[in-house]
Amino acid sequence: MKIHEYQARELLSNAGVPVPSGEMVQTVEEAVQATEALLAGGDSLVVIKAQVHAGGRGKAGFVKLVRTVEEAREAAGFMLTNRMVSPQTPPEGLEVTRLLVAAGVDIESEFYLAITVDRSRGTNTLIASAEGGVEIEKVAEETPEKIIKEPLDPRLGLQPWQARKIAFAVGFKGKQVNQAVKTMLSLAALFENTDASLVEINPLIVTPADEDNPDGRVLAIDAKFNFDDNALFRHKDIAALADPLEVVEAERRAEEFGLSYVSLDGNIGCLVNGAGLAMSTMDIIKLHGGEPANFLDVGGSATEEAVTEAFRIILADDKVQGVLVNIFGGIMQCDTIAKAIVSSARAVGFSVPLVVRLEGTNVEEARRILEEARDELPTMHPASELTDAASLVCSAVAVAG
Ligand code: GDP
Ligand code: MN
Repeated sequence: MKIHEYQARELLSNAGVPVPSGEMVQTVEEAVQATEALLAGGDSLVVIKAQVHAGGRGKAGFVKLVRTVEEAREAAGFMLTNRMVSPQTPPEGLEVTRLLVAAGVDIESEFYLAITVDRSRGTNTLIASAEGGVEIEKVAEETPEKIIKEPLDPRLGLQPWQARKIAFAVGFKGKQVNQAVKTMLSLAALFENTDASLVEINPLIVTPADEDNPDGRVLAIDAKFNFDDNALFRHKDIAALADPLEVVEAERRAEEFGLSYVSLDGNIGCLVNGAGLAMSTMDIIKLHGGEPANFLDVGGSATEEAVTEAFRIILADDKVQGVLVNIFGGIMQCDTIAKAIVSSARAVGFSVPLVVRLEGTNVEEARRILEEARDELPTMHPASELTDAASLVCSAVAVAG
């Protein structure tokens, strides 16, 4: 689960990381008022930022620095009436309904700081770079040596000596070092305590030196957090931060019915029982030159109603040009799937090729049900085994497409 920047800033601030003050608003008028309040409070620079679950806002024109109420009005008006398009959004972009209006700061230098799970090592890892900011993807690609990775001990977490080592390695100087160390330790605690899968501050900045801060101040001015969905049950406060507008509608409905559904870019809808079988089904589709439109595991004990909902979700996806049903019935009974296929045909209709491979518990009964409903399923092709099923659906889609 992802959250918005304004929510991540609040979590950071509560964890002891210095963050410039700000407020989430939903209208141009509110943005103007929030700007007025900051200017009246002594800030001369204000930043207006679109709140969407995608990065690349700066380059897309959805992070704007303003110095007057008029500029704030214009920036907020633009963001709330235009969709934001960046390499991290779908091609049609994202609608912006929330803005963050925050105190702007002068920047001396921008750093990158994150903690995430390194699956190849099997540990959490702290990642830091002196080349933070909007070009971090380019840095990672072209000069990966500028990105420092520090594995974290599973029991001890981030140790103060490691944080100091990283702070010096990325070039923090003088009084910046302790500030950076404190931020890293707070970030690591937050990562651990919330079962996060990613906590990222980009940029972590140093402000220019002033009388009170001869080495400048270390501040977080952007944050991106992801949380492990499987741990949300023990973090009700985090779960409550979910923005329903940002969750793919189909994924929300699937969750309601206990289905594991992830939307993908291809055109072959898959309905499978068991995560392992779902993955191997996707592999075999790819092996035959096709592209799966989704991952969908109906689980072992789905009801006819839930399986019908699964078909409804798959068929509602405009990308889908063919459907592959691959069931290995154990606890799941093949006749439940067959009944759901028939009721989906009645309720929604299969206008695209439907390839069905069923094996296991009650398969004879399932075949009988499908055979009887033959007239209602004109696009159905029964398949005898997995390779046959994959090649059938891939060639059916290639012909249709
Ligand atoms: P992102 O592009 O979605 O990652 O949005 P960020 O919040 O990281 O903003 C993009 C860039 O805008 C940052 O890397 C900064 O260079 C700049 N920026 C953001 N906030 C401020 C600010 O308060 N003051 C200044 N001077 N620049 C800012
Ligand atoms: Mn950023």
